[in-house]
Amino acid sequence: MSDTTAIRIPENKQSAAFAATVLEWFDVNGRKELPWQQNPTPYRVWVSEIMLQQTQVATVKPYFERFMQRFASVELLASATQDEVLALWTGLGYYARGRNLHKAAQIIVHDHNGEFPDTVEGLSALPGIGRSTAGAILSLALNQPTPILDGNVKRVLCRHFCVDGWYGQASVEKTLWALTTALTPHKNTGQFNQAMMDLGATVCTRSKPECGRCPLQKNCQALKTGSPTDWPHKKPKKTKPVRHTLMLLVVKDNAVLLQRRPPSGIWGGLWSLPQFDDIDGLHQFAGVLGQYDIEKTEQWYQVKHSFTHFDLKITPVKIALNRGSGRRIMDEDSMCWVEDELPGGCAAPVKRLLDKLTTTLL
Ligand code: SF4
Repeated sequence: MSDTTAIRIPENKQSAAFAATVLEWFDVNGRKELPWQQNPTPYRVWVSEIMLQQTQVATVKPYFERFMQRFASVELLASATQDEVLALWTGLGYYARGRNLHKAAQIIVHDHNGEFPDTVEGLSALPGIGRSTAGAILSLALNQPTPILDGNVKRVLCRHFCVDGWYGQASVEKTLWALTTALTPHKNTGQFNQAMMDLGATVCTRSKPECGRCPLQKNCQALKTGSPTDWPHKKPKKTKPVRHTLMLLVVKDNAVLLQRRPPSGIWGGLWSLPQFDDIDGLHQFAGVLGQYDIEKTEQWYQVKHSFTHFDLKITPVKIALNRGSGRRIMDEDSMCWVEDELPGGCAAPVKRLLDKLTTTLL
């Protein structure tokens, strides 16, 4: 891995020229109509920043608007149930973001009297808020001179300065923070940060940077090599482990049995199908169902879902109960029969299985 300390951090004059170029470009080309840019309060900027982590702007827009219609303030969010919050998060993925958003709202209301902390340290102490998100909230909502370092900014900086190494590595991240801190102007910080994010999202894109229309092309080190997409360097490859699970679709009179996941871990707090590590666990559970007259069992094709650290292979098994059977097969809060509306958030592959099930019931 190359030595990242070889990067020269720009001095004041160079930084000022860099910021002026970026701000000039933003004036003409920057995005100014995004929903969270209208009335950019710390609350609205925070929700948008959390939704935008790992997710494209176009996907986030309708989620953001629905979220704001339902939870117009941090107080309304804090007083909601986790189910209500996760229901509005269904389909966005990375559900820990939704759970943390809810927890942080409760801390802001109970411990900070409904006011957002106005320092990077104060904001970073809340669940789900890191240094870059804190910088974005403070600069975009309050125009404080705080730098950011989200994925788009990292890509632009890695290319412009030819920063070697994978940016998840502590030493590379340190170099990138030093660069963004040196380059971020003390005036118009919000606009500069928005401009850097826009540049990464619309010009210096992951696989097809449009260097010909980039305001930074004159001094871009990666462009000079003729191969800008060689940066940022990729994460050293590791093969992802594969886990297997069985999911049970128990159907009775057009209703399906759902089970709530434990509060933490994968899909924490979401509604899912009863899940088993092996066929013995499933048989044991089916033994309980056996009291209720099973009409038919069928195994569906396996489906795959990728998490960051592993792939999950799901084998769905459908069990149809006879009409004469009783409904009440489990006496737990964590189980419920659902006919149409889901009781809360639901992970994407489970939702797809439920949609497929609906077509078989029509
Ligand atoms: S010149 Fe190309 S590689 Fe360099 S920052 Fe601009 S778009 Fe990215």
